Amino acid sequence: MTLHNKSVRDIVIVGGGTAGWMSAAALANQFKQQPVKITLIDSSDIGTVGVGEATIPTIRRFYQKLGFTDHQVMQATNATCKLGIEFKDWYQPDSSFIHPFGLYGQSVNHIPFHHYWLKLKHQGDTTPLAKYSLGVQLAQHNKFMPCIAKPQNQLEIFDWALHFDATRFANLMRDYSLKQGVIHIDSLIESVTTNKNNGDISALTLANGQCIEGDLFIDCSGFKGLLINKTLNVDYHDWSEWLVCDRAIAIQSESVNQPAPRTIVTAHEAGWQWTIPLQHRQGNGHVYSSRFTDDDTAKQQLLDNIHGPLIGKPRTFKFVPGRRDKAWAHNVVAIGLASGFLEPLESTSIALVETAIDKLLQALSSKNYNQQVINRFNEVTALEYERVRDFIILHYKANQRSEPMWQYCQTMNLPRSLEQKIEAYLTGGELQRLPWEIFGPDSWLAIFDGFKLWPRKYHQKIDKMPIEMIDNGLKKMEQDITNLMKNASDHSQFLVNNFNCHLPTNTKVSS
Ligand SMILES: Cc1cc2nc3c(=O)[nH]c(=O)nc-3n(C[C@H](O)[C@H](O)[C@H](O)COP(=O)(O)OP(=O)(O)OC[C@H]3O[C@@H](n4cnc5c(N)ncnc54)[C@H](O)[C@@H]3O)c2cc1C
Repeated sequence: MTLHNKSVRDIVIVGGGTAGWMSAAALANQFKQQPVKITLIDSSDIGTVGVGEATIPTIRRFYQKLGFTDHQVMQATNATCKLGIEFKDWYQPDSSFIHPFGLYGQSVNHIPFHHYWLKLKHQGDTTPLAKYSLGVQLAQHNKFMPCIAKPQNQLEIFDWALHFDATRFANLMRDYSLKQGVIHIDSLIESVTTNKNNGDISALTLANGQCIEGDLFIDCSGFKGLLINKTLNVDYHDWSEWLVCDRAIAIQSESVNQPAPRTIVTAHEAGWQWTIPLQHRQGNGHVYSSRFTDDDTAKQQLLDNIHGPLIGKPRTFKFVPGRRDKAWAHNVVAIGLASGFLEPLESTSIALVETAIDKLLQALSSKNYNQQVINRFNEVTALEYERVRDFIILHYKANQRSEPMWQYCQTMNLPRSLEQKIEAYLTGGELQRLPWEIFGPDSWLAIFDGFKLWPRKYHQKIDKMPIEMIDNGLKKMEQDITNLMKNASDHSQFLVNNFNCHLPTNTKVSS
């Protein structure tokens, strides 16, 4: 079979939200000083979703590749540091655990740490797993320190991300893109023309009648998917059978407490609430299931659980959890909400924008592409979404709450891929690492442990080791983490010292 190569000289990005400007910035960086024209069209009359304030550490790698430092981005976006996510009331009311961006304990003799911890647990030891994670300890004690540059062992490994103002971040990406020569047009796209011979998109017609042609179109038009959906009619995989939340209400509030270095997500009777602290304000939102509650109740529940004065009016969002069957079809690549959406529980949407951009840059490295390149892009995108989907479903499946939505989740059937993962862990403590997973074994461990799912057996070789040796080893790890914590400062102090920001005078930390 001969593969027809299509060359890329004229890229048109539709949409100027986080996805659109991140794509523009990365493409402009890749093609600087090369004859590739990049145009971004958005409409200030439509605006952007403007939410998306919690990230995972990959965002730092993304902007570092463009030449930004953490300090520059934090300053520009009023950001705070995020060491992980605290899940309150998810397992049961009054429960809490943290999913850190970091590791647990030190593996010994190639046996992962949690097997040793399990052995002691079987012997009656009650030390929580969280005591062996520097990331959790920092987050729990509202401390922060930069990552250790050359970790001596696994105990020293943790990572961090940002809570940022999404609009400011998109502006930062916009300013960077414009400096690199990206052309920006603020106009409504009124119609889309396709080539009758091959089905590709050939041009977009704007409200003023201008016609914009291109050879590759990046659809970052948000939930509607102006090109991938409305024009090319690419199917959508609806995952609401497993992810029952399909609505969100978001509102900002003034900060009354010190910003915590973690996102807080609190389970409610038919959904969950996010609390995201920024330097100058707090982001709040309630993600819920329209099958199990109504909009007014959900809104009231959100407002009842915000402590500071509100800023602006609540904004509502409707969504269908799932992904586009093909993120790349013809000469259209969908990135961001146009390619799919999984609720923001683990802050994965912007991360999926990053992975899409990475794949696109690789696909276009020779400034042309063919069907094989498209197929590969789609295969990997599908896997990335499915891995994230499985990870999020676990948070619902493993709950022990009593309300109808949570009961439904306890008894729902699971995707086979997740069933296998849970089975491997529960039977022998195996934390499988699958290709294209955003979340590694320690993230899965954090969620399993947070929901009190523990393997029936630990690694058999451990029984050959003297119990005192294991006991002493783990005590030393705990002590090492306590010692490492001495190098950390209060998260608030870190922000004041580095960004000169004005935090509330109240010394209490938001919880
Ligand atoms: C409630 C909620 C909470 C979220 N929280 C998080 C989070 O904490 N972390 C995270 O990583 N992600 C989060 N996300 C996802 C995140 O907000 C998005 O992934 C991200 O903002 C990218 O959005 P986008 O750029 O794809 O779409 P949008 O922001 O919707 O941008 C769409 C763009 O398309 C343009 N457009 C559309 N139609 C036309 C037209 N006809 N003509 C011209 N222009 C047009 C619009 O003007 C706009 O510029 C959240 C999403 C929601 C809904």
